[in-house]
Amino acid sequence: MSDFEGIKALVTGGASGIGRATADLLAERGAQVAVLDLDPSSVDKPLLAYRADVTDDASVRQAVTAAVTDLGGLDVLVNNAGIGAQGTVEDNPDDEWHRVYDVNVVGMVRTARACLPHLRASAHAAIVNTCSIAATAGLPQRALYSATKGAVYSLTLAMAADHVREGIRVTCVNPGTVDTPWVGRLLDAAPDPAAERAALQARQPTGRLVGAAEVAGAIAYLASPLSGATTGTSLAVDGGMQGLRLRPA
Ligand code: NAD
Repeated sequence: MSDFEGIKALVTGGASGIGRATADLLAERGAQVAVLDLDPSSVDKPLLAYRADVTDDASVRQAVTAAVTDLGGLDVLVNNAGIGAQGTVEDNPDDEWHRVYDVNVVGMVRTARACLPHLRASAHAAIVNTCSIAATAGLPQRALYSATKGAVYSLTLAMAADHVREGIRVTCVNPGTVDTPWVGRLLDAAPDPAAERAALQARQPTGRLVGAAEVAGAIAYLASPLSGATTGTSLAVDGGMQGLRLRPA
């Protein structure tokens, strides 16, 4: 259980859902883990917690500096904080496009910028971005969200190229529909949440939603030296949604 012995990791959006499952898994496997989140009040030991808003460059820099100081270095950045958006291009006004893009894309850029000087000093440096099948699936009613994740996908490839000779690997995971508090909130907003959940499950190739721990497992693999020759690519964690050429109705 010591794959991550000596590894120091920072997980953004690590207080909930995929980020929390990832922080917990890395810590269980021996890493020292810092969580950066808008609301880290639920984060407890052995995880270290730092409050920051990824849309605020100063707060990201401050939190990264504090985390790296407390961890004594940095090997892994899990760039995971993100928010959802629904609708077609006619449904979201410009300010909503800027708001969601600022979290989902520029937030990852800000955090990577703050972490890169520290990652250069690591012998096992890796950045794993949480992307989505929305990046390439052409999902209906998800224009804004899909565009942000398309940007995360191309950002992953471009950063992998820029930093490969520095020994910093950059990859992303593309989750399908994951059973997290975020999806729970969406289901709760439906007139009949239980029926909505059943319908959502029925649309999955596997007949069930993806577990947050299953996405965490993929992130942990991409963050670990076990994937030392893997960079500039994505790993789908979608219960076969894309590989089987199926899509949600
Ligand atoms: P979640 O809402 O359960 O957790 C997101 C976390 O990010 C929260 O702790 C929140 O406080 C934090 N956060 C949000 N905005 C922030 C900001 N501005 N600064 C700092 N922290 C912020 O969501 P989740 O489902 O675990 O999603 C995590 C990531 O996974 C997102 O990038 C999302 O796009 C991606 N994703 C989720 C699914 C899914 O079905 N749940 C599918 C594909 C991709």
